[in-house]
Amino acid sequence: MSIAQKLQREHLAEVVPYASARRTMSGGSVWLNANESPYSNDYQLNSDNLNRYPAFQSTELNQSYAEYAGVNEQQVMSCRGSDEAIELLIRAFCEPGSDQIIVCPPTYGMYAISAQTHGAAVKQIPLRTADWQLDLEALLPALQQTKLVFLCSPSNPLGNTLASADIQQVLETAKNTLVVVDEAYIEFCPDATLATWLERYPNLVILRTLSKAFALAGARCGFALANSDIIEVLKKVLAPYPLPDLTVQVAVQALSRTGLQRLQQQVSSILEQRAQLLQQLSALPMQIVADSDTNFILLQVDNASELIDYVKQQGVLIRNQSAQVGLAECVRISVGNNTENRQLIAALNSFYGESL
Ligand SMILES: *Cc1c(COP(=O)(O)O)cnc(C)c1O
Repeated sequence: MSIAQKLQREHLAEVVPYASARRTMSGGSVWLNANESPYSNDYQLNSDNLNRYPAFQSTELNQSYAEYAGVNEQQVMSCRGSDEAIELLIRAFCEPGSDQIIVCPPTYGMYAISAQTHGAAVKQIPLRTADWQLDLEALLPALQQTKLVFLCSPSNPLGNTLASADIQQVLETAKNTLVVVDEAYIEFCPDATLATWLERYPNLVILRTLSKAFALAGARCGFALANSDIIEVLKKVLAPYPLPDLTVQVAVQALSRTGLQRLQQQVSSILEQRAQLLQQLSALPMQIVADSDTNFILLQVDNASELIDYVKQQGVLIRNQSAQVGLAECVRISVGNNTENRQLIAALNSFYGESL
């Protein structure tokens, strides 16, 4: 046994680290496995203050995001991606060894991983497979003993949005539970946001990110939106200098008027590409699992790993979701730009051409 194995916290022995798209697959030239934007945008960087520690929270950034999201600045905390917000919520509210979170799989993997590394229990209340919506009959009674429930809407990996009436019922039933709605993909279906509900529900937390539609996964910038009492508790466990000055500069430009205009154009193009891709995919023996409100599509196929290996040989990376509850033989494909999508379709046509 190594020194690290001897000394590590007992519960970590069983924790398997998050297998991110970037960790599990390398190579390829067409990356459609991490729901990233196909666009890389230009930014002006100023190095004048790099000798100084950055602000704990940038007022300029939080004001810009508050304005964009339609909330007030006291309801915003910025941090290193929404992944960090997930972790801060668990660290701030869950007692290791006794508290639990609820997740509704199939869902984003980091809620459970963050809970496990912290020593909080994870209770799963799967979505109903008939319509991929919340199973309220099972969920509502389970909320009593739960500090945090994570709802991903629009869903990663399904792509659909959860019915807002159901989320409302959760918020109204579980008055002593924080209901965290992860809106990582909300720019692709802006009308579905629950940000305006913050005024009404003191137990609502919304997670946002610049990693997807804003095309800034490499900058690591995300936000928690909640009423200020929750934000103040989160700030107790946030690092003193969470966001690099360079990230703040980029994020502020992304949220400027021209940045937001560019965002709208890029979202529109991705939605057009998605429509075209859906049409092309419908000619292949792949079943769409749920209607997508996002920049990715989940499909069921005959043999997911065989398909993924084959298209990888053609330089195209897509993501296997078969390990998720209810998603046997499912693959998730991010919508790329026109060239990338053409390469994807060519690889898929070649796969099915050979095996049909
Ligand atoms: C990508 C993703 C995140 C993580 O975003 P970061 O801001 O890059 O940490 C969070 N939630 C969901 C559902 C995602 O798909």
